Amino acid sequence: MRIKHFISDRYGGVSKPPYNWLNIAMHVGDSALDVKRNRQILYKKAGITNAQFANQVHGDMIVEINDFIVPPSCDGLITTQFSLPLAIMSADCFGVLLYDNNAKVIAALHAGRMGATKQIVAKAMHLMRNRYGATNISAIISPGIHSCCYEVSLELASQYPNRFIKRGRYLDIKAIIYEQLEQNRVESIRDYNICTCCSSDYYSYRRDKKTGRFASIIWMEE
Ligand SMILES: [Zn+2]
Repeated sequence: MRIKHFISDRYGGVSKPPYNWLNIAMHVGDSALDVKRNRQILYKKAGITNAQFANQVHGDMIVEINDFIVPPSCDGLITTQFSLPLAIMSADCFGVLLYDNNAKVIAALHAGRMGATKQIVAKAMHLMRNRYGATNISAIISPGIHSCCYEVSLELASQYPNRFIKRGRYLDIKAIIYEQLEQNRVESIRDYNICTCCSSDYYSYRRDKKTGRFASIIWMEE
């Protein structure tokens, strides 16, 4: 069994500006036909034939997936099934992909400010351990907005502990994610360490507002 993952950028698709080029999200105003073609291109790039998406709502609900279904409204997907890729869409939010080789369980989480604040990463790790017998959970963190670019209001900044605030009013979402990973004894972390707002290779909602979404996908292969 092998754990595989794929994180797309904006290149190689057919969408026109401002969604250029590989937008994989239907809900952002792009042409549905273009998105359909892009998803096929995405699957080909990743080496898969399909992926389970979610109707993301910036919450902390995690849904167990046993077969491909209509995208459920949630921000976390978890499975023990092989060849059932789980996909998260984002443009600044982090895709956090979790896996345990031995317990053979994987999860894909949409962790933006809201999801991270609601502890979706800790919640997924508890679930993997308590329900699926995971003991060694590793994590992959997609590109997302870093504290260099995530200025928030002073009022919002004041709702977070100082350790998550940089230079007065810049929120460090990834530090919130790291804290949950480390408090739950994560085995290893692979961090793409790319700020989506700094890098034009990725979609950024903060930078562009009307824009596409890239995908973070994880799956198990026999
Ligand atoms: Zn940045």
